Amino acid sequence: MNDGESSKPTTAHDPGHSQRVAGCLLGGAVGDALGAPIEFMRLSEIRERFGPQGLREYAKAYGRLGAITDDTQMTLFTAEGLLRAVCQGELKGRCDPAYAVYSAYLRWLKTQGYDSESESFSFATEPLERPEHEAVVPNGWLQHVNELHARRGPGNTCLGSLRSRVSGRLGQEPINDSKGCGGVMRAAPAGIVAESVEHAFQLGCETSVITHGHPTGWLTGGALAVIVRVLLDGRSLLGAVNDALFMLATDARSAECREALAAAVSLAGRGRPTAEKLTTLGEGWVAEEALAIGVYAALAAGTFSEGVLLAVNHSGDSDSTGSIAGNILGAALGQGAIPARWLEQLELRDVIATIAADLVTGFEETDAWWKRYPGC
Ligand SMILES: [Mg+2]
Repeated sequence: MNDGESSKPTTAHDPGHSQRVAGCLLGGAVGDALGAPIEFMRLSEIRERFGPQGLREYAKAYGRLGAITDDTQMTLFTAEGLLRAVCQGELKGRCDPAYAVYSAYLRWLKTQGYDSESESFSFATEPLERPEHEAVVPNGWLQHVNELHARRGPGNTCLGSLRSRVSGRLGQEPINDSKGCGGVMRAAPAGIVAESVEHAFQLGCETSVITHGHPTGWLTGGALAVIVRVLLDGRSLLGAVNDALFMLATDARSAECREALAAAVSLAGRGRPTAEKLTTLGEGWVAEEALAIGVYAALAAGTFSEGVLLAVNHSGDSDSTGSIAGNILGAALGQGAIPARWLEQLELRDVIATIAADLVTGFEETDAWWKRYPGC
């Protein structure tokens, strides 16, 4: 685990480790929430509704401003699974993080209304009762957050893979041929808990392959985790992308992903960013396009807000590309770079900030910690 800010002094230009981790998760959620209302709109429709600059502030989605979607929900469960793997490892012996994250995704599946016992669809339209405060929470606390029990456009591949009760694993027969962006959009926490760039790549790939069997569907998760890992060390985004390209080159199946990343870097070097330029990278429904759009927006923008707005104003998967750009920009710039008005209206801000703080802590040898993260 990372050891917080103790090893690295914070300067005016360095937000420090814990602020970067919080920025990564909250930034991703803000990008997700900005993209949510325009996920299924063409760029022309977005401009017609919001003006020639496109969407500039939160607009209502799922009945509110600042609504998060499946991208943020699953990112939180990725983090929970990884924290539980660490806790198990410290207290009870090694736990395979891939198994822990798979178990976490099954808990997310439950929040989406799929009963793990009967396999039947049983989505509750009313929020579940919150357990008594301080009560021993069965199977961790995250799945008992009422507001997570909401369907926010979950991807068919994620739902279908998890409902099959077969987890994709690296080195085994792929469970499908999907390279939808549902694998990469939730991988950022793998970069936060990783002990090295190589470890980040491994964890990111393992996390994504659980549901997405096409190599591009999970190599992109490894690449995003590497980018986050390197940014948390205070290095440049260009350096982070180069490290991701280096790690990708260790796998012969990575050409598609490397080409998409290289196109993003090249485009960012070609002057003022525009939605039209961004569109040449694709629409983001597939993983390599979503990662490339997120990287381009982060590289080409001068600020957090400019980057996430660039990442969502296009005809494609706006919440996922906003989420990835927000993860990257937040890790690069820290939580302080996110406009306060967006944080204030962000759904589940406290839950997201709590998970971020727990990722910074990593592990505590207390009963309370075990109850929060009770192993695999
Ligand atoms: Mg979504």
